[in-house]
Amino acid sequence: MDVAHVEHDLVSTLISEEQIQQRLQEIAREIERDYEGKDLLLVGILRGAVMVMADLARALVRHVEMDWMAISSYGSGTASSGVVRILKDLDTDITGRNVLVVDEIIDTGLTLSWLTTSLSSRKPASVNICTLLRKPAAQRMMVDLKYVGFDIPDEFVVGYGLDYAERYRNLRSIGTLAPHVYS
Ligand code: IMP
Ligand code: MG
Repeated sequence: MDVAHVEHDLVSTLISEEQIQQRLQEIAREIERDYEGKDLLLVGILRGAVMVMADLARALVRHVEMDWMAISSYGSGTASSGVVRILKDLDTDITGRNVLVVDEIIDTGLTLSWLTTSLSSRKPASVNICTLLRKPAAQRMMVDLKYVGFDIPDEFVVGYGLDYAERYRNLRSIGTLAPHVYS
């Protein structure tokens, strides 16, 4: 789906398809450098990170493994609950592995800070985070983000994996949701 198909639901396009792909290429080059000669396991956070994972993994010119976790976050609202729960755990034993968590957005960072602590207790060689988007609140958190695609304003955005009530995930670019959609 393109912005034109849902233009009445959006205030504006925030990040275009081309900008996303361009930035993922840049991040892929950084990852290739940083993990040269090392094994790499990408851990995607369902369901929002599906698009980032698919495009980032394909941008990487090296072997990677992929696994997935599902953790609870917002439900269908637009404000963080702070309640974190593993809904689907990894199938992979990460002991001694280099883990790169791939997520689409970090807002309060509550979800990811809890997750990295939990993954670290499994004795991986390393745990780092790659997020496509970062909201301002995340900068106050003690979460170390190794790769950040874009810093965005504190607005509710949809598209490219990001949903409102499970819709808009299949939008090819990222847009700011119009308040009339959720009020
Ligand atoms: P955090 O724990 O506050 O960092 O929440 C991160 C999660 O909240 C993300 O993985 C998304 O599922 C969701 N989220 C945060 N901001 C937005 C947004 O603007 N649009 C859609 N989902 C969002
Ligand atoms: Mg998410």
